[in-house]
Amino acid sequence: MNLADQDKELSKIIDREELRQNETLNLVASENHVSRAVREATASSLTNKYAEGYPRKRYYGGTGLVDEVEQLAIDRAKKLFSAEHVNVQPYSGTNPNLAVYFSVMEPGETALAMNLQAGGHLSHGSPMSISGKVFRFAQYGVNLETELLDYDELEKIAKREKPKLIVAGASAYSRLIDYKVFREIADNVGALLLVDMAHIAGLVAAGVIPSPIPYAHFVTSSTHKTLRGPRGGLIICKEEFGETIDKMLFPGIQGGPLENIIAAKAVAFLEASKPEFKTYSLSVLDNAKTLAKELENEGFRLVSGGTDNHLLNIDFGEAGLTGKEAEKLLESVNIIVNREVVPRDKRKPYISSGVRLGTPTLTTRGFSTEETKLVAKLISAVLKNPADEKVQSEAKNSALSLAKKLPFSD
Ligand SMILES: *Cc1c(COP(=O)(O)O)cnc(C)c1O
Repeated sequence: MNLADQDKELSKIIDREELRQNETLNLVASENHVSRAVREATASSLTNKYAEGYPRKRYYGGTGLVDEVEQLAIDRAKKLFSAEHVNVQPYSGTNPNLAVYFSVMEPGETALAMNLQAGGHLSHGSPMSISGKVFRFAQYGVNLETELLDYDELEKIAKREKPKLIVAGASAYSRLIDYKVFREIADNVGALLLVDMAHIAGLVAAGVIPSPIPYAHFVTSSTHKTLRGPRGGLIICKEEFGETIDKMLFPGIQGGPLENIIAAKAVAFLEASKPEFKTYSLSVLDNAKTLAKELENEGFRLVSGGTDNHLLNIDFGEAGLTGKEAEKLLESVNIIVNREVVPRDKRKPYISSGVRLGTPTLTTRGFSTEETKLVAKLISAVLKNPADEKVQSEAKNSALSLAKKLPFSD
């Protein structure tokens, strides 16, 4: 029985969500819109199969075919990223980080990662996360003048803290990261290097920004952001750590793998290896630069003054709108973003003084720099005239017609 007949109540909610996705302009930097092929694999009968273990080393019978699925995903990821060892089982982008932490540290030992204010991620040692409860995380940030990573400062902190592990990578940093310098600093203090490329994995796969893989002992990622796969995660490491990492993820941290999701990852890796994906990724970068330039022309202050990747952060300042207000205003005109703490933020993360904007989803719909300029104008008009109903309703109509002009092609 199909979903609509079996469960009308739920099916209607999903239909409304699909309509919402079609009718809004999504600038959430961590989201994307997957292909029909990825969705088909996600919804396939592979969801029925238990497969604890790894290909050819399972704890269940009947696993010959899911072995083929998982091996295909592994082989494709290895080729796509020029990786020595790959684990495709992580349920999300957080679990890979836990697997690395528990592989290289004992509870209470020290790691060094970017703070949340500068754009770090909860799984990089936040006291709210198990990572911060079990391990001691020292933190580095950005230079408050340039809002860029300060490698001299990083080295000083690393020498002082003597971490076992240094974590590079962020959720809201709009600039490129110098992995070579990170590795040199790690080597100098006897630490291992983990690069969390969750946000930028698609750009790395496409080869349009530098890859951390030659420099890092471990690279972790989610698969659903710029990489445009199903919600999930991925661990890449040097061969020497492969066995330890695999055992730490299963049975250490996770249970049985989601082979339907792993199949969908395999599809996404195939898609990401095609020339079209490189064209797409270049366009993601172009659109982000265009959005940044237009917003600056409109008088908004961008953290670090711009972007080298798929995202940018507007800082409204202490006296301006809060991130929460801006998010709500934009949502009311069918433009979806998320609030974001900025480097000098005095407000709590739930309120915050900025918003983060990204171009992966709009670019998937086929937005070029021309449409992106229009989106920047809409965002500007809405945020500058919060009480003007006419401006707001015109913006909503424009957002809706842009969305209808460029629907998602399956
Ligand atoms: C998104 C993200 C993750 C993964 O988050 P999940 O929600 O667990 O998939 C990990 N690290 C960084 C830096 C991220 O931005």
